Amino acid sequence: MLMSRERRPAVRTLRSWAISVLHDAGAIRECGEHGWMQDRGDPHARERAFEVARQDPPAGVSPAVAAVAIAEILDSIGDTCPECPPEDLV
Ligand SMILES: [Zn+2]
Repeated sequence: MLMSRERRPAVRTLRSWAISVLHDAGAIRECGEHGWMQDRGDPHARERAFEVARQDPPAGVSPAVAAVAIAEILDSIGDTCPECPPEDLV
């Protein structure tokens, strides 16, 4: 029986690339206590991240795919840390 050995490492790499671009741009930040990524809701920072995706996508990835990866990360993270108590928001 044939087992698929393809574990799609490229996708995982693209996801971590997108996270690092968003982090560098200041669009997301990491909770210092729990390590969850949080959307900072900064449209300018987002725009910088998309700019990087368009102009400097990872090797073998088209600018459009890179931009989608950025959008997917933004979609998948919330604007608060799920483990921090709400009081920390103030
Ligand atoms: Zn937290």
